[in-house]
Amino acid sequence: MLRILFAARSERWDQYQGPLTQALAKVGLDAQLGTDLPPETIDYIVYAPNSHITDFTPFKRLKAVLNLWAGVEDVAGNPTLTVPLARMIEDGLTEGMTEWVTAHVLRHHLDLDIHIIRQDGTWDDRPPPLARDRTVAVLGLGQLGGAVATALAALNFRVLGWSRRPKTLHGIDTRSGAGGLAQTLGEAEIVVLLLPLTTETDGILDADRFAALRPGAVLLNPGRGGLVDDDALIAALDNGHLGHATLDVFRTEPLPADHPFWAHPGITVTPHIASATRVQTASEAIAVNIVRAEAGEPLKGLVDRHAGY
Ligand code: NAP
Repeated sequence: MLRILFAARSERWDQYQGPLTQALAKVGLDAQLGTDLPPETIDYIVYAPNSHITDFTPFKRLKAVLNLWAGVEDVAGNPTLTVPLARMIEDGLTEGMTEWVTAHVLRHHLDLDIHIIRQDGTWDDRPPPLARDRTVAVLGLGQLGGAVATALAALNFRVLGWSRRPKTLHGIDTRSGAGGLAQTLGEAEIVVLLLPLTTETDGILDADRFAALRPGAVLLNPGRGGLVDDDALIAALDNGHLGHATLDVFRTEPLPADHPFWAHPGITVTPHIASATRVQTASEAIAVNIVRAEAGEPLKGLVDRHAGY
């Protein structure tokens, strides 16, 4: 029998206990699932980085750690973790991110605020532009960025994509490397950040990169707060070069109530809700990943510890 430790906040256990137990049974795994099992007996840990576990050394027979979230920046560099680590890949997370980004791209593309907020009798019948005439860049073409880019391309946007390694994606004009980033930023009218937070991407949108954007460009950041230099962001908005920023993630979360982002007219704050791991689909993904591991197959979402994502 496998022993699986669920290491996350107690409210998560209340949500996951039933669906995860069912998902494990459905794939035919004989497993004991719990929150308080002896460390030396544990085969797998289902893990949230804000759980109580930061030292993995007592888990002598541990085979893998399955992260409940897509972002692994708080665990990927843990030196006590020596077994494979998987980030969360599940349909609900991908669908949620695709929907959030599409909604916010369309908000800016169609200038929806004008018609939603200004209900003052003005009959402005200029037609909105078409997606075919709008260039959107997606920085990060992984599980989420790839799906987002593909969905935007299906709506007929001209989509540019940027990743660490060269990549081919149907319908997307892809680039990589530092030169590719400069070119991409210079062409895009809407930029979507879906990079992981690593030593290479920390503060990647700095003053120089904001200056490289097209005047009036819009930034959407559902990736991680640390990708953006906050002071450079405010400066780019205040000097009028950046048109708007819609931010879902922040260096400090929850975003403090007195943080200048809340009051800035050029910033829309959403409270880290762009996408969430969904209990049902995530439970199924975890169960399938444990089956893969037991069969000696590589984990889905296996983290490259050297690259940090
Ligand atoms: P992923 O599958 O690991 O993809 C990461 C992408 O970023 C890959 O295309 C990768 O390039 C690229 N990348 C990494 N480092 C780079 C660098 N230095 N330069 C250029 N490109 C680089 O990650 P994911 O599952 O799509 O998730 C992306 C991020 O979204 C997560 O890390 C998390 O921070 C964030 N997220 C946010 C929410 C929310 O609710 N706001 C929810 C879930 C996730 P390669 O293709 O070459 O590897």
